[in-house]
Amino acid sequence: KLILLNSELLSREQALIDIEDRGYQFGDGVYEVVRIYNSHFFELEAHLERLERSAHEIKIKLPFTISELKQRIEKLKKSNNVHSGHLYLQITRGVSPRNHAFPEKAEPVLVAYTKEYSKEPSRIPGRAMFTDDIRWLRCDIKSLNLLGNVMAKDDATVKGYDEAIFHRGEIVTEGSSTNVFIIKNRILYTHPANHLILDGITRRKILSVAASLDIQVKEESFTKQQLLEADEVFISSTTQEVRPIIEVDGQPIGNGKEGDVTASLQAEFEIHISRSEK
Ligand code: PLP
Repeated sequence: KLILLNSELLSREQALIDIEDRGYQFGDGVYEVVRIYNSHFFELEAHLERLERSAHEIKIKLPFTISELKQRIEKLKKSNNVHSGHLYLQITRGVSPRNHAFPEKAEPVLVAYTKEYSKEPSRIPGRAMFTDDIRWLRCDIKSLNLLGNVMAKDDATVKGYDEAIFHRGEIVTEGSSTNVFIIKNRILYTHPANHLILDGITRRKILSVAASLDIQVKEESFTKQQLLEADEVFISSTTQEVRPIIEVDGQPIGNGKEGDVTASLQAEFEIHISRSEK
């Protein structure tokens, strides 16, 4: 399978990254993961817009237009003949002698590659644990710096959980690589899209799907206690789609099974996926 490095399609052996690439040394860059269903990118425009925004927020100037980028990744997808899976794409500030301050001259480095895997019919319910949100205050930027996220996810994995749910004080923010939703009395709650969370593309899709199903939505923060007392909890992401959470810190949520509202959102989300495949 080929790798896209800037504007070239290369073998993995040929795709070389400099030791002084700032992405490698500082995590100085941004990324996206875009799902591929039936050989089509899902919600590509939204991902590329978010990428552009993330780059802008850390003052990386993209050396290509979004339509050029689109052409390159379409070519990559075609060359690799990906039917189902995802595209990983990252842009770093580029190569420069190591120094914290932004270099005056550095060409951003683009790397993208694809992964092939089959779509799971519907995500099996998972169990989560709470963890202190020790991350920085710009979680809205999809930055390569993921230490807070990977440490939380590792802790959860070692303890046998499927996800770590972050909280700042009593307020639930998001998961280590997912957004978190609760349902109480048929109202859907999720943390507002501010600097404390990544505004997930799947999150946005779910909010519009919920509106189309006449489910009342409140983009309002909620506490750990409210989550534990919710009727339903689910998480969302590009790779996990809509995944029910049936237990948190060993306490069952609702009746300990996937709830009706989650199931209907999941079903409607699947319809959006199949429509996008055409
Ligand atoms: N929150 C965090 C911290 C993430 O890393 C991710 C995705 O990986 C998400 C939320 C979900 O975002 P999306 O739905 O765009 O994949």
